[in-house]
Amino acid sequence: MSPVNREYPSYALRHSTAHVLAQAVEEIFPGAKLAWGPPHDRFENGFYYDFDLPRALTPEDFPEIEDRMRRIIREDHPFRFRVVGVEEARELFADQPYKLETIDNLMGGRDEYGEDRPGDTAISTYTQDSFEDLCLGPHLGRTGEIPADGFKLLDVSGAYWRGREENPMLQRVHGTVWPKEEELDLYLWRREEEEKRDHRRLGAELDLFSIRPEVGPGLALFHPKGALVRVLMEDYWRERHRAGGYDFVATPHVGRSILWETSGHLKWYREGMYPGVAVEDDQYYLKPMNCPFHMLIFNGRPRSYRDLPLRFAELGTVYRYEPSGTLRGLLRVRGFTQDDAHIFCRPDQMRAEIDRVLEFCLSFLAAFGFTEPEIELSVRDPETPEKYAGSEADWEMAEWTLAASLEGQDLPYERVEGEAVFYGPKIDIGILDALGRRWQASTIQFDFNLPERFDLTYVGEDNKLHRPYMVHRALYGSIERFFALLIEHHAGALPVWLAPVQAVIIPVSDRNLDYADEVAGELAAAGFRAEVDRRQERMNAKIRDAQMQKVPYMLVVGNREEEAHGVSVRLRTNENQGMTDLSGFVDRLREVVEAKSGL
Ligand SMILES: [Zn+2]
Ligand SMILES: [Zn+2]
Repeated sequence: MSPVNREYPSYALRHSTAHVLAQAVEEIFPGAKLAWGPPHDRFENGFYYDFDLPRALTPEDFPEIEDRMRRIIREDHPFRFRVVGVEEARELFADQPYKLETIDNLMGGRDEYGEDRPGDTAISTYTQDSFEDLCLGPHLGRTGEIPADGFKLLDVSGAYWRGREENPMLQRVHGTVWPKEEELDLYLWRREEEEKRDHRRLGAELDLFSIRPEVGPGLALFHPKGALVRVLMEDYWRERHRAGGYDFVATPHVGRSILWETSGHLKWYREGMYPGVAVEDDQYYLKPMNCPFHMLIFNGRPRSYRDLPLRFAELGTVYRYEPSGTLRGLLRVRGFTQDDAHIFCRPDQMRAEIDRVLEFCLSFLAAFGFTEPEIELSVRDPETPEKYAGSEADWEMAEWTLAASLEGQDLPYERVEGEAVFYGPKIDIGILDALGRRWQASTIQFDFNLPERFDLTYVGEDNKLHRPYMVHRALYGSIERFFALLIEHHAGALPVWLAPVQAVIIPVSDRNLDYADEVAGELAAAGFRAEVDRRQERMNAKIRDAQMQKVPYMLVVGNREEEAHGVSVRLRTNENQGMTDLSGFVDRLREVVEAKSGL
């Protein structure tokens, strides 16, 4: 996930706020030892300062520290720069061991992390009010330029002095600062929304999936409800591909080293692969990609120009050895299912095929409500043509075709030179979620490398052998990632067609249980997923629980509903829609599911 690009207010603002934080903490905790506190980007517009304090800080301490910071801001002290001699600096910071160590490092030609750098001959400080700190700046002119309502302390965490485990553990206080209070409020709202929508948290709350240490990092277990959502996504994918002229193929999870040598993966992609397994004097590798298998299916028999285009599609699970520090829920995993397809065509079919696959991608994403794609066309860097596989003519034709197809469909796009991978130009389609975050989804990518490596050919009208054009294509990209995107985009309240349970039937009393079962039976017969809540709980508790589980419809059935053969409909938004007859509700549900809409 890459957040939308935002402009950062000045470094000086964040830096100055960090100094004010340090002064406030020093005043509140006499004897505090100060380490350092540069601005940083872990949080947007972030800053921090590391402290060694007599006791552990908690967020409950923040209001007092923030009040003290506001006082320093309102007093409007100037930030004053001065250069001091080494001995003077040592006296100034005589009771600050971390500052003394920093001075020694600077003099000894090392930076604050203890890395080599040219030794300093003088030391500079910045002072505001009574607080002086070793510092190179830059700073604002006065503390009063910091917006008193534009900053907030966010959290406190442990951090080793100089980032080294053998050093003392310090307390790092993080904050954020914005030029205007409204900007801070918007940022805090988004941060809270992002936390609420985090698919890892919702995945546990809604019992969708888990990642267990016994299995290994980045390898997800889909629980029944999560697996059902996945199956629905896959079913829809299959239905569209069947109608879209694709042939399904299925390939193994491992292959011999010869396969990955031919494809070039062992040479170019080895660090992204799990190590090989020795079997019968050979090495077998888990597949990081499906492509080589599809190449073998293409050249498994002679192909004629009349056979083309061929479109092979597979939901293929691949394994990639991602560094464990980069793994994040289902967004970055070590095993995932690509909704992969490879299209093989003749030169004269290329434009029509690209038009077709582009339309296919966009209408597929639109079915999930993503109707405003952000499109990038990645082309060669014209300065370094030698970096790329394939002929000049092939590249020109492919780049032209992708651009012509986008323009033919009136799609706005950004052309990025030098972003193409070495084997071909591509179109990347990103989508924006409910919080305005951009997610990479579909890809349409030419490849001039694999057809060459696997010597793919077809017999042309001229009876000679020709090389087909080949395009890789994925719509979801990765089922796991798209699943996570849907959870976060909808804050867990999946559209009705994807909801694992579409309706919970809540009997008013046990006397209505038989009727509740009858309603469930009729819904199931009509092809919907409904459950009866048979627990001995109060009705309101059952409604609340179903809402927490983001079930779209709660159908309350009591004597009145039973007599009228109806249901009283409550939504997960808590809207009460009143009583309706059951067949009317079934019709409405059918419409909503067919339209793939929310409610
Ligand atoms: Zn500073
Ligand atoms: Zn591929």
